[in-house]
Amino acid sequence: MSERITELKNEYFSTGTLSELPSQLFIAGEWCDAAGGETLEVSDPSSGKSFAAVSAAQAEDVARAVEAADAAFHSHWRDLKPSARGMILARTADLLEQQADFFSVVEALDSGKPLGEAQGDIGSSVQALRYYAGCADKIQGDSFPLGAETFSFSCLEPVGVTAHIIPWNYPLATTIRGVAPALAAGCTAVVKPAEQTPLSALLLAGLFKEAGLPNGVYNVIPGTGQGAGAPLVDHPKVRHTTFTGSVGTGSKVMQAAAAHISSVTLELGGKSPIVALADCDLEKTAEGVLWAIFYNAGQICSAGSRLVVERSIHRALVDKIVEKTAQLQAGHALQNPNYGAINSREQLEKIEGFVERARARGISIACGGHRLKVADSESGWFYAPTIMDDVPMQDELVQEEIFGPVLTVQVVDDPEQAIVAANCTQFALAAGIYTQNVTQALRLSRAIDAGQVTVNDYWAGGIEVPFGGNRQSGIGREKGLEALRNYSTTKAITLAF
Ligand code: ADP
Ligand code: MG
Repeated sequence: MSERITELKNEYFSTGTLSELPSQLFIAGEWCDAAGGETLEVSDPSSGKSFAAVSAAQAEDVARAVEAADAAFHSHWRDLKPSARGMILARTADLLEQQADFFSVVEALDSGKPLGEAQGDIGSSVQALRYYAGCADKIQGDSFPLGAETFSFSCLEPVGVTAHIIPWNYPLATTIRGVAPALAAGCTAVVKPAEQTPLSALLLAGLFKEAGLPNGVYNVIPGTGQGAGAPLVDHPKVRHTTFTGSVGTGSKVMQAAAAHISSVTLELGGKSPIVALADCDLEKTAEGVLWAIFYNAGQICSAGSRLVVERSIHRALVDKIVEKTAQLQAGHALQNPNYGAINSREQLEKIEGFVERARARGISIACGGHRLKVADSESGWFYAPTIMDDVPMQDELVQEEIFGPVLTVQVVDDPEQAIVAANCTQFALAAGIYTQNVTQALRLSRAIDAGQVTVNDYWAGGIEVPFGGNRQSGIGREKGLEALRNYSTTKAITLAF
């Protein structure tokens, strides 16, 4: 642990807060209070206590942010040399890397995730900034064969002002995953972080400013979904909205965008299956499933929340995963445990509700099924790693997204049944397959409906790989070169000689 982290920990544990936290909106390159004077409390899930407050934007502030983004788009950003846009993103990546300790501590406090996980998020955010920094001058068009008398070509133009509505589970990583390709493509951005976790998107504004990003290109308006999110997606000057969150809110965002014919990328819920075939490596599979569902305490849209397992290995595999959960030790995020808190009291109660209803239905609980009391963090929002065994297909534990540390086990008799079980929900975000048989792996990869399938390593991937879902899990893809298409529109130019 670095000296800087030790200093910050000492400051936090002795004062209950940190001195360098942002508390205002960031609009047109300036820090400012919300016009209505309202604020949002910022809580530390590991202690259940508030440690900061930020201004809460309302429609009036949102409109100002969109106007600033629109002015910056037209006045210079879209016309800046693409390589110069890339340089600014690259400089921001360097600054984030230099300040990774501070960002990690703030992210861990704001979200409740273990410090080590927060450090991982900051590291992948640096990579994402570098990836799109390198893309800025490679967004190019095509030419079309119309014969010798005509010349026809296309160029990709930025769509304009983009809105980014961010969830609370990966506050900085989700912000950068949307904003970096948008800025690389020549768009400007207005970011609405989740009301629970506004700090890191605001801190990022300071880095962008230091890196030389022109005023108005990146704006942040924390606030509630109703107060700030809805007026943002309703604004007619927003030309694309990138939304990550629940299905219900995603549907509202899409309806709002429809009113002014603008586009959306929706990253919504998941209930992603991990299929364990009889020939899988049990140890590797158990380890994979453990982290697929208990990383970030299961608060990941693409968590592997259903284990679909062949009957012949069901007992042995579930026992092994249960055994491994004993290694998960919850603690205050800044003590860097390997298992963190639930982001909000509301979410904790939601998770508990799912488990208690299942208990009442007589579903077998292989482990967990209760809140956790953590020494020195007794008022924190912790829930035990929980495994619900042999659950029937129609049960709400199979069908509904819980968004917490609850694994649902489905037992099947053969790979054919595994495909049916894997595809039995309204969601189609991610899927994992554990098998030694490459033919089965590829056959199942094709047969399972999902935006991304991984084999023998559930979290394999990176910023290079497109990410998104089908059906209720969403529309469009983020990450990779595909994300650039969200923020670009094709212009075809045809000239007759
Ligand atoms: P959760 O229920 O897990 O908080 P949401 O989908 O409600 O998930 O929240 C995801 C993001 O969407 C948050 O930033 C939230 O403030 C925002 N949000 C909520 N309601 C709306 C809305 N009507 N319009 C735009 N954004 C919204
Ligand atoms: Mg909500």
